[in-house]
Amino acid sequence: MSTLKLEVVTPDKTVVSEDVEMVICPGSEGEFGVLPQHISLLSALKIGPLRYRRDGKDECIFISGGFADVNNNKCSVLAESAERDCDIDQARAEEARKRAEKRLAEHTDDLDEARAEAALRRAIMRLEIARKAI
Ligand code: ATP
Repeated sequence: MSTLKLEVVTPDKTVVSEDVEMVICPGSEGEFGVLPQHISLLSALKIGPLRYRRDGKDECIFISGGFADVNNNKCSVLAESAERDCDIDQARAEEARKRAEKRLAEHTDDLDEARAEAALRRAIMRLEIARKAI
């Protein structure tokens, strides 16, 4: 079966480095699929699930935004943070969700609303991916 190389790296670690059958990225303008021998492309990514198929099995990882570079039968994803679904700490994500919701509800003068909203989106997405609800 034809494959392409998928690499997902964050500033701390390599989360995925595998030969896969297909990738679906959370592009900033919507999801897009990458099959073997895809034409070159560069896209910004938003918070969301990055899905891929390996040996016929579907996998899903959380991505907190970044960039995807498709070139030479390789999809390189550089993300601010990323975790495989099985590595997501649900209790931590739940705490992060509550913190962000509290900040947004209190709406103090020094609130950085965009930052709090992004933290909330990350937490909700992690919970949905960990619970396989997405
Ligand atoms: P928190 O407030 O809990 O740190 P966050 O959304 O601000 O959440 P990030 O800045 O996206 O966290 O990530 C910081 C580091 O912590 C990254 O290495 C990321 O993979 C890891 N991380 C964050 N939340 C979780 C989680 N719920 N489960 C596993 N790893 C997590």
